[in-house]
Amino acid sequence: MPFTNAELLVVIDRVCQAVIDHADELTALDRAIGDADHGLNMERGFRAVQSQLEKWRDLAPGAVISEAGKTLVMTIGGASGPLYGTLFMRLGQEFSRVPEATQADLAAALRVAIDAVKARGKSQVGQKTLLDVLEPVHAHLAEPTKGSLRELAAVADAAAQATIALKAERGRASFLGERSRGHMDPGARSCALIVAAAAHSLAGPVPSGSTQDNAKEGLR
Ligand SMILES: [Mg+2]
Repeated sequence: MPFTNAELLVVIDRVCQAVIDHADELTALDRAIGDADHGLNMERGFRAVQSQLEKWRDLAPGAVISEAGKTLVMTIGGASGPLYGTLFMRLGQEFSRVPEATQADLAAALRVAIDAVKARGKSQVGQKTLLDVLEPVHAHLAEPTKGSLRELAAVADAAAQATIALKAERGRASFLGERSRGHMDPGARSCALIVAAAAHSLAGPVPSGSTQDNAKEGLR
């Protein structure tokens, strides 16, 4: 799955667009168990990244991901800014170490980035956060025989759905205690959107010959 910088910019552009297109849904989820700002905050952050992609065209792929992370820290705000910023900045740092990003490299980089997010948010799996999507996504990627990139969107979506049953133990939603159950975590949903957009873009055309979007096609 090696990719060029131009292909990476297409992947990030699609990730940004997915977040922007679902801002209202993220806000509605956050209205149920938080303060209704997740959609606006995420849209602001990913619009800022999208608007700078052209400027980053000559950077190495790892540096592009790091720059995206720095932009997210500065623009998302709230609790999510530092978490998504940490995720992207650490991913970028790890990508800078490998000349070609294989799926194993991606899994290893994600492991380091997830641990950094855990430390930043002082949180663990099972507390109804984006970690409840990131960990299953990592487990899928790290499985060399079964874990195909093409299935990753479904893995992320199922993981976000599974946060509906959880009780929030971090952030504003934790104030609701048991009443936080029955609602999907907004951060888990935004994380699943990001993973799905990246996976669809990286996985390339569906073998059946369908016209699904992908990064390489987008450049031809
Ligand atoms: Mg909020």
